[in-house]
Amino acid sequence: MKWSEFLLPTLKEVPAEAEAASHILMLRAGLIRKLTAGVYSYLPCGLRVLRKIERIVREEMDRQGALEVLLPAIQPLDLWMKSGRFAALGEDMITFIDRHKKQNVLGPTHEEVITALVKQEIGSYRQMPVILYQIQTKFRDEARPRFGVMRSREFIMKDAYSFDVSWECLDRSYAKMYDAYCRIFQRCGLRFLAVEADTGVMGGDASHEFMVVAPNGEDRIVSCAACGYAASLEKAACLRREQAPAAQAAPVERPWEILPTPGKRAVEEVAAFLGITAADLIKTIMYSADGKPAAVIVRGDHEVNEAKLRRCLGARQLTLADEKMIVQATGAPVGFSGPVGLSAAVPIIADYALAAGGPWVTGANQADAHLRNVSLPRDVAITQWADVRYITPADCCPRCGKEIRLEQAIEVGHVFKLGTKYTESLQANFLDDAGRSAPMIMGCYGIGVTRIIAACLEQNHDAQGIIWPAEIAPFQALIMPLNPEDPASRATADSCYRQLQRQGIEILLDDRNVRAGVKFKDADLSGIPVQVIIGEKNLAQGNVEIKTRCSGERLLAPVSAAAARVQELLGME
Ligand code: ATP
Ligand code: MG
Repeated sequence: MKWSEFLLPTLKEVPAEAEAASHILMLRAGLIRKLTAGVYSYLPCGLRVLRKIERIVREEMDRQGALEVLLPAIQPLDLWMKSGRFAALGEDMITFIDRHKKQNVLGPTHEEVITALVKQEIGSYRQMPVILYQIQTKFRDEARPRFGVMRSREFIMKDAYSFDVSWECLDRSYAKMYDAYCRIFQRCGLRFLAVEADTGVMGGDASHEFMVVAPNGEDRIVSCAACGYAASLEKAACLRREQAPAAQAAPVERPWEILPTPGKRAVEEVAAFLGITAADLIKTIMYSADGKPAAVIVRGDHEVNEAKLRRCLGARQLTLADEKMIVQATGAPVGFSGPVGLSAAVPIIADYALAAGGPWVTGANQADAHLRNVSLPRDVAITQWADVRYITPADCCPRCGKEIRLEQAIEVGHVFKLGTKYTESLQANFLDDAGRSAPMIMGCYGIGVTRIIAACLEQNHDAQGIIWPAEIAPFQALIMPLNPEDPASRATADSCYRQLQRQGIEILLDDRNVRAGVKFKDADLSGIPVQVIIGEKNLAQGNVEIKTRCSGERLLAPVSAAAARVQELLGME
């Protein structure tokens, strides 16, 4: 491909709308252009990268025996009502009413559609296991589209779905997809971690997220270098009560007493007022669990993890209690709730971390007052001890007790063991080998194909621009005659171009009539792995210069050996 005949508009300036490195680079290197919030066009260079990633995904899916399908983006809303997921996805869903006054959804994901299809086409254990996948555009009206294609409203996902006759068979399908995902992300040049994940609105049992560690990531992950434990912040377990160091609270002789704390509600305010730290306080948070009040108590410097709390309470709906419920349950205004003397009708969930430490300062269930010398369990009728908080960097690994690390990360893939969540609600049954009917056991597996590009660029760039991993680079080599007006330079560029093309290498020839400085800058910006620089001075000695983008190393090669050296550098001998 010749640059002069290609559409590769590079930008010198950093576009004002872009903050993340990947977003800036995708705009500057002419890969994408914005149409409207969270909606992007791919220019030819961006599309080349996208197609390469899709090819890797297809190869790895096919290697595991998955079958490619293509499902419709337009889906009847009825189907989502039947699965009960319309409410769960809420405002992310893009819906429209058609001319027959029927309501439709632009598919944000395809569990419902695939289950309806498989229900029609598969009825016997003999037809399973089966894994179906597609690479297709998804639509989600994200609350905050961000960072270009990282979180967009229209994006390409590879989604796969497995159907099995038993949980053991699902384990095998899951392992195959897990394996495929590792290979895909490796081939895309990502440094990633598979972490244990929460199942969230998808439902189901086990789940892993594939996370790319990057400062711009919107997710947080916890990992332990010593034992390899890795989990999303949502999921990460904190040490259980009996494992916690000094699990026994210090005995407190003195009874609790009331302290005036006029107008001090927030943990920090109370701590500062009393001259103590947040860790000396117990925070009492009132929730509404399926409409009934529940209190959770955690250390003042800890945060409640609502996913853990929901599971612990077995609640379908969990929200912070409103003012009315708080006043009714505690008899005090918001900000002064405490666990001592709470009505027996309000269950109290205590976080394991409160088993150590104390005596505590807590809310007094009366305005402008707190209690001190509160001791657990002496003074509080605890309904249940549980792990209901987020892990912090000060915690230790829940598996081996060593140090943990908390990092920002980008989720590029997610695999779930769904079990019968959808096959039961949509009645996708099969006949087993004894002729009995049972719901199929399902798994689902998603990769953000377009997000991979953003994640890859977050990890693979420097101040000059992109550094593409070889397998997904839009071109493998760039030939740069610095002065295309010079006939010898032009002839050498042309012969190199033809030679490399014959060798099956994808080449971009920068034949533009622009200053050498512009070519150098654009070459580094575009991130093509190998640059063949044809300058008049070197050429007079019969040489060209070859630069490797990732290491910055340069070497001189005789013109006749240039193509072979490029091939070597690309590791394609
Ligand atoms: P997130 O938590 O980032 O919103 P999700 O849990 O909603 O992701 P899934 O429903 O599991 O995502 O979708 C599978 C994959 O699709 C994700 O792992 C991610 O790589 C990608 N993805 C999800 N939402 C978007 C989006 N708005 N833009 C680009 N890619 C996305
Ligand atoms: Mg999402």
